[in-house]
Amino acid sequence: MQYLPRLRRSVGHQQQNRPDDVLRVKTALNQIGHYDVGKYGLGTGADETLVSAIRQYQRQRGLKADGQMHPGGPTERDIESALQDPKLDIATRTPTYRCIICGAPHAGLHGRICPQCWGKLNS
Ligand SMILES: [Zn+2]
Repeated sequence: MQYLPRLRRSVGHQQQNRPDDVLRVKTALNQIGHYDVGKYGLGTGADETLVSAIRQYQRQRGLKADGQMHPGGPTERDIESALQDPKLDIATRTPTYRCIICGAPHAGLHGRICPQCWGKLNS
């Protein structure tokens, strides 16, 4: 099971920050408790909050804290493995979740994102 839609381009401090990539990173960080959806929302802008969240995650995991994520890079790979941690609540598969992007109820097949939004992120 893959939980982190792969980045197309780099995200973070002084990177390309494609809106769809930014949303991928925010969604992934939110699912592992490193990005607060309630307070900041999951917009497509790469603001200082996102860069800080990436840096904080990198520091905590012993990665280079440059606030950047690159396709196939160490931070993306580390987040991918964190998302697959069986202790994470998204892996418990309760019948209904609310999609953190559109709010639709869904079965948690792709973590907290509904299949429709997952499809958009992967298209
Ligand atoms: Zn959705």
